Amino acid sequence: MIVAMQEGAVEDQIQAVVERLTEMGFDVHKTTGARQTVLAAVGSRNDFDVRELEVMPGVEQVHRISAPYKLAGKSFRPEGTVVRFANGLAIGGEEIVVMAGPCSVESRDQLFRVTEQVAKAGAKVLRGGAFKPRTSPYSFQGLGEEGLKLLREAGNKFGMLVISEVMEISQIALMLPYIDIFQVGARNMQNFNLLRELGKVRKPVLLKRGIAATIEELLLSAEYIMSGGNYDVILCERGIRTFETYTRNTLDISAIPIVHKLSHLPMTADPSHGTGRRDKVAPMARAAIAAGADAVLVEVHHDPDHALSDGPQSLYPEQFEKLMHELRMIAPAVGRKMA
Ligand code: PEP
Ligand code: MN
Repeated sequence: MIVAMQEGAVEDQIQAVVERLTEMGFDVHKTTGARQTVLAAVGSRNDFDVRELEVMPGVEQVHRISAPYKLAGKSFRPEGTVVRFANGLAIGGEEIVVMAGPCSVESRDQLFRVTEQVAKAGAKVLRGGAFKPRTSPYSFQGLGEEGLKLLREAGNKFGMLVISEVMEISQIALMLPYIDIFQVGARNMQNFNLLRELGKVRKPVLLKRGIAATIEELLLSAEYIMSGGNYDVILCERGIRTFETYTRNTLDISAIPIVHKLSHLPMTADPSHGTGRRDKVAPMARAAIAAGADAVLVEVHHDPDHALSDGPQSLYPEQFEKLMHELRMIAPAVGRKMA
């Protein structure tokens, strides 16, 4: 951490800051310039709050140099994390994985129809919500355990892994036998109790970025899961809330290379929630792959006009097939191939 003192800071103020930093466990290196004194604090602590120093008399600016997360940071595993599954599929390696399926599991007929279509087009992971975080309590809330059973059955039938959203701690044990990846939704990115519990399970977790979360906050949430011993965390950019109204959210494509620089964890993009409009999904999925995403998560429905949730952003099966074809052309251009 670097503490720049104000031009007029007096010796007592400088000394007070040095003492505070020493108390916090830092070694302090002082540089006295012609106008200003700069203190460089070196140490392994990363649980400090820079504001504690910013509010001290005589302090002009404080800059944190090291990241506040350890396990999620690049230096923990510079070679990168590859999340591997028993069927040989891997997320974070050379191959790009497509996860697709309906927003919600609505019925056996719906799920099996969509699964057959996305599997045929080349998706490797079946998505579908059994527990739905809906903005309105009057909207469809999901089929619960019945939905999980259908997901497992459809996944097995069409040779796909299964991902579904977990909304609360009590659902973890219930979901374990049915799913291959736990999805933590945007609304729960900072549900720290849930994250801690997911740190205890030995199944991968796909952690979505919150609608108003910074990339640093996303990485700190990953740190919660990893600090419990579960290192199989996959991050996901799903759009953030901005002032733009043409889209439901603004898909922050730049988060993909940023996360790849800061972290060793695989990075995914969800262009469906990221845009909220069907016609914007394919262009943003293509952009995400071009930007280096390790996987994409796409909503597809056989009859989106009658979907119980997120119909307007769900692709028709033919659109998904076309997108897969396009992704197969883009992947080699960025040194990857499709799983
Ligand atoms: C979903 O994947 O259907 C979902 C609810 O996502 P998010 O948490 O990104 O809104
Ligand atoms: Mn959805």
